[in-house]
Amino acid sequence: MSKTAVITGASKGIGAATAILFARKGYNVVLNYNQSYQSVKLLTSSLTGQGFSVSAIKADVSNKLETDFLINETIDKFGTVDVLINNAGISISAPINEMDLHDSDRIFDVNLKGVYNCCKSVVPRMISQKSGKIINISSMWGQVGASCEVAYSAAKAGVIGLTKALAKELAPSGITVNAIAPGIIDTTMNSDYTIEEIEDFVSRIPISRMGTPDEVALAAFFLAGDGADYITGQVLGVNGGYVI
Ligand code: NAP
Repeated sequence: MSKTAVITGASKGIGAATAILFARKGYNVVLNYNQSYQSVKLLTSSLTGQGFSVSAIKADVSNKLETDFLINETIDKFGTVDVLINNAGISISAPINEMDLHDSDRIFDVNLKGVYNCCKSVVPRMISQKSGKIINISSMWGQVGASCEVAYSAAKAGVIGLTKALAKELAPSGITVNAIAPGIIDTTMNSDYTIEEIEDFVSRIPISRMGTPDEVALAAFFLAGDGADYITGQVLGVNGGYVI
C-alpha cells in the first residue's frame, strides 16, 4: 500500500516542489494550502493528470480546528498518515521597533504554532500506528539569527526546540522528528530582496548560488525514507555551506 504524506504550504515554493517529488516517488500526497487556491488547483490538476494520487486541502495551520480537519480528511481519503512535512511559513522583515505587533503575532502563529498544531493533530494517529515521520522546515535564521527578522528567527529557533523535544517524546512510539534548516532558497519568499541584496547573499554562500526548492525537497524525501530510520531530533542544513 502506498504511504501518505501531508505537506503543509504546498501551493508554491518548497512545499510545491516537495509535493511533486513525493507524488512522483509513489506517495499519496495531500497538498495543504491557505490562500493560493489557483496555484494549488493548477498543481493538483497537473499531478492528477499524470496519474498521481494527490488531494488539496485548505487549512490555516495557525488554527488547531483546521489542522484537525486537515489530518482527519487525509485519513478519510487515504486511510493513513505516514509523513507530515511542516513547511507552511511566512516572513515579514522589519526592525523590531518598526514591526507591527499584528505581523509579529502572525509570524509566531503560522511558523511556530502552526507546526505545533499540525504535530498535535497527527500524533495520536501516528502513536496508534506506531510509526511516522515528522519533518519540520525551520531556517538557518533559526540557528544563527537574522537582523530585522527577530520574530521569524525566534519562531524558527522554536521549531528546532520543538523538533528536539518531540523527537525524544515520540521515539518510543516508532516516530522520528527532524528539522531541515534551509539557507537562501529561490522562492517567492525572497522576492522582496533587490538583485543587489541577492548578489550580496550569494557572494557569502560557499557554493556560490541560491538553493532550489527541489534541493530542500530531496532532503525531506531522505528524512521521510527508511534510510533515515535511526535519525531523529536532528537539524539538517540545506544551505550551500552558508553558516554565519
Ligand atoms: P513561499 O513560496 O512563500 O510558500 C509559503 C507556503 O506557505 C505557501 O504555500 C503558503 O500557502 C503557505 N502558508 C502560509 N501561511 C499559511 C497558513 N497559515 N496555513 C497554511 N499554509 C500557509 O515560501 P517558501 O520559500 O517555499 O518557504 C517554505 C518554508 O521554508 C517556510 O516555512 C519558510 O519559512 C522556509 N524557509 C524558506 C527559505 C527561503 O529562502 N525561501 C529559507 C529558509 C526556510 P498559501 O499561499 O496557500 O497561503
